[in-house]
Amino acid sequence: MTLLDGKSLADTIEKQLKTQIDSLKGNGVVPTLAVILVGKDPASCAYVNMKIKACERTGVACVAKKLPEDITQIDLLQIIKDLNADPQIDGILVQLPLPAHIETKSILEAIDPCKDVDGFHPFNAGRIFAGIEAFAPATPMGVMSLLEYYDISLKGKNVAIIGASNIVGKPLASLMLNAGATISICHILTKDIGFFTKNADIICVGVGKPGLIRADMVANGCVVIDIGINRLENGQLVGDVDFDAVSKKASFITPVPGGVGPMTIVSLLQNTLLAARKQKIEKIQKY
Ligand code: NAD
Repeated sequence: MTLLDGKSLADTIEKQLKTQIDSLKGNGVVPTLAVILVGKDPASCAYVNMKIKACERTGVACVAKKLPEDITQIDLLQIIKDLNADPQIDGILVQLPLPAHIETKSILEAIDPCKDVDGFHPFNAGRIFAGIEAFAPATPMGVMSLLEYYDISLKGKNVAIIGASNIVGKPLASLMLNAGATISICHILTKDIGFFTKNADIICVGVGKPGLIRADMVANGCVVIDIGINRLENGQLVGDVDFDAVSKKASFITPVPGGVGPMTIVSLLQNTLLAARKQKIEKIQKY
């Protein structure tokens, strides 16, 4: 069994990004990411802090907007409108989830698709679905980079994706389908997840349920990508896979932490650099 070491790969990519960003800065171009956090949800604060630190390590300028929980939708939309119009800002990220009184769909749709480095705007989602160049959401993009680095081909492979959210499962299914795999997408209403996972060469799970994927649900030699992040009562961070048992059958498996998480953050930085290149060097302001 080989561990898919996302931490080490992300560190390597970060170093390459830093070199590229230093060179851009030499030419007066500073890739700049706006990060919007509404409220004080501890998990969201932790994710935003990790993203800000990653920006600092690579030289991406970060404009953090920490907004009160009770901000109105209209005020939040105005902030996004201002960031859309600001030529210094290359990428805009709104940390999810948003408070219940704000309609997430309207906020995501308000972001200029050229600055949508999280890839959640329907414009980018549609392009990813159609196999056209676009900002891919960071987590699926990170999974694809990890598979590519470890030379795990998707051509002709059976893939079971468990979790069908707009930010993880659905875009990951599009990227993998476009790369030649045959995809099954499972979700909360799927009757027998084991039926799909047992027949899969590659299993990707992002649900938020510790121990969901057990050893009896996987074939010998399968590749297992654990996207889930769960904090147990004892403080331990685990994924959705029973790692100890499943790793004995898997050919490749991601650890949690240190697998998909770091790849997600570095993919966001890659998208920010791409956005800066497009807007500040190629001068593409609109698709
Ligand atoms: P979500 O709540 O939006 O979607 C969860 C999906 O899982 C849904 O499609 C739902 O139908 C499905 N689901 C829920 N319970 C299930 C069950 N018992 N069996 C089968 N399917 C089930 O969540 P999300 O934002 O997509 O996040 C999912 C998980 O991935 C969470 O643990 C989250 O923390 C993690 N995540 C990790 C990263 C990363 O960088 N590693 C990034 C994003 C999300």
